[in-house]
Amino acid sequence: MTTVSEVRPVGPAEDAPIPTTVEGPVEGPGAPPGPTAVADLDELHRVSRDLEARPAAGAARAAIEWAVDRFGTGLVLAASFQDCVVIDLAVQVDPAIEVTFLDTGYHFAETLWYVEQVRRRYDLNLRVVGADVPPDDRWLTDTDACCAARKVAPLAAALQGRAAWMSGLRRADGPSRTATPVVGYDVGRGLVKVNPIAAWSDADVAAHVAARDLPAHPLVDRGYPSIGCWPCTRPVDTGADPRAGRWAGSAKSECGLHG
Ligand code: SF4
Repeated sequence: MTTVSEVRPVGPAEDAPIPTTVEGPVEGPGAPPGPTAVADLDELHRVSRDLEARPAAGAARAAIEWAVDRFGTGLVLAASFQDCVVIDLAVQVDPAIEVTFLDTGYHFAETLWYVEQVRRRYDLNLRVVGADVPPDDRWLTDTDACCAARKVAPLAAALQGRAAWMSGLRRADGPSRTATPVVGYDVGRGLVKVNPIAAWSDADVAAHVAARDLPAHPLVDRGYPSIGCWPCTRPVDTGADPRAGRWAGSAKSECGLHG
């Protein structure tokens, strides 16, 4: 994924709002989403510099506020439901924000249970998008094709007609995500991509979970710091790369959703 540049100067106060007045085509709340909403890369550079200069907690809130204000219903939060931190943050800004869960057909039963707990807690505006393919064994023989059919294609359907999407990606997730920006441009999809908690450490997440008394995915305490589909997720040793249990034994480290 090509992203806007990351600059980390001394920045604004943590709680200062980001200006939403921009040059060029703009689409705000109530306006139909579309590609013109993401045409102004100068705006993204400016917003990125602002957010990257803030403390991580303040950047998360400011990023969500900017995205909700800027894109309105053109914004979708794609959640993996291995925790609910970014959901908790997002619904505090916009209780009606659309949250999408990609149901690959191969999730752990514990994940489906957790989705329901989180949905009830927040009365989520949840959209479950399933894969348009029958069950098969591609996860055994061609994991890239399987992820393409069960994750990438459903996400494309979920983002159809939208201007921006948001995820809970963090740099601390593992080596493949260390360059994750708070705000970037998803060139492949032609959409703005917002990662509000990109700069959060594991300690930041733990502190937020404790402070907000958030429910935990049942598998986390059983050695699964990163949770995907059951055929492709294994527990990992304490201190190992959190994503080492994903597609363990292969060179694959990402499913294709994030570039
Ligand atoms: S993670 Fe595994 S089962 Fe899930 S879509 Fe990718 S290859 Fe298929």
